[in-house]
Amino acid sequence: MRLQGKIALITGSGSGIGRSSALLFAREGATVVVNDLDPVKGAETVGEIVQAGGAAIFIQADVTNPDSVQAMVSRIMETYGRVDVLFNNAGISGVGAIHEVEPDAWDRVMNVNIRGVYLPSKYVLPIMMERSSGSIINMSSCVAEIGLARRASYSASKGAILALTKSMQVDYATYGIRVNALLPGTIMTPFVENYLKTSYEDPEAAIEAIKKRQLSGELGTPEDVAQAALFLASDESKFMMGSPLYIDGGAVFG
Ligand code: NAD
Repeated sequence: MRLQGKIALITGSGSGIGRSSALLFAREGATVVVNDLDPVKGAETVGEIVQAGGAAIFIQADVTNPDSVQAMVSRIMETYGRVDVLFNNAGISGVGAIHEVEPDAWDRVMNVNIRGVYLPSKYVLPIMMERSSGSIINMSSCVAEIGLARRASYSASKGAILALTKSMQVDYATYGIRVNALLPGTIMTPFVENYLKTSYEDPEAAIEAIKKRQLSGELGTPEDVAQAALFLASDESKFMMGSPLYIDGGAVFG
C-alpha cells in the first residue's frame, strides 16, 4: 500500500478527478479527508470509500474562504493531528475570450482556482513544516502550456498555479516538503460535460474535435489523473520537486 497510514486532504473531492483520487488514495491505505462545497456529493464519496473498507471523513468548506479553510484544518488537526498530503484539486471552469468575460466571472475563476490553492496551502504548510515532511499537489491543466480558444480566465488561472507551484517548491524544499503540479488534458467529468453542453451547439462534434487534438485519440478518465496524483502523493516520486506532470494523452503536442 503506497499511502499506508497517511492523512490526505483532497479539496473538491465530491466529484470527478477529486472523487476518483479519494477512492484510490483510500485503497492505497490513506485516511482521506474529503472536502467539497457540496455536502451531498462529499458524503457520496465518503460512502463509497467506507463501503469499500477504507477510511474517510467529509468536511464541508469553501476553499476561497479563510475562516472556512481554517476551521477545516483545525478539525483535521483535532481528529488526526497532522496532514501528510494536500491535493489542491477544487476548481471551476471559465469560458470566453477576454472581451467576452465579465469582471465578476473573471474574479470567480481566479478566486476558486488560485485563492483556492493559496488558502488550503497557507494553513496546511505550517503543519507540514513542523513535521519536516509533506507532499502538496496542485491542480493545473495542459491549458497552462497550450493556447485554447475562449479559455482566457481558466488558462490564466491554471498558468498561475504552475508558477505558484514552482515558487512554493523553492520556499519549502528545506522543510522536506514537495510541491508538484498535475496538467491533465480533457478528462470526462461533470465539469467537462457541463462545459461542452453550455459552450457548443453540438457537444458530440466538440468531443470528436478534442479527441483529435489529443495524440491518444481519446479523452482521459478521472482514474488516469488519480493514478498520477497517487504517484506524486507517495514517496515513489521523492525526486520530483516543483515538476509539471502531464496526463493529457499528448494534448500539448496536438
Ligand atoms: P468537477 O466539477 O467534477 O469537480 C470539482 C469539484 O470541486 C466539485 O465537486 C465542486 O463542488 C468542487 N468545488 C468547486 N468550488 C469549490 C470551492 N470553492 N470549495 C470547495 N470545493 C469546490 O471537476 P473535475 O473535472 O474533476 O476537475 C477537478 C480539477 O481538475 C479542477 O481544478 C479542474 O480545473 C482540473 N482539470 C480538469 C480537467 C478536465 O478535463 N476535467 C482538465 C484539467 C484540469
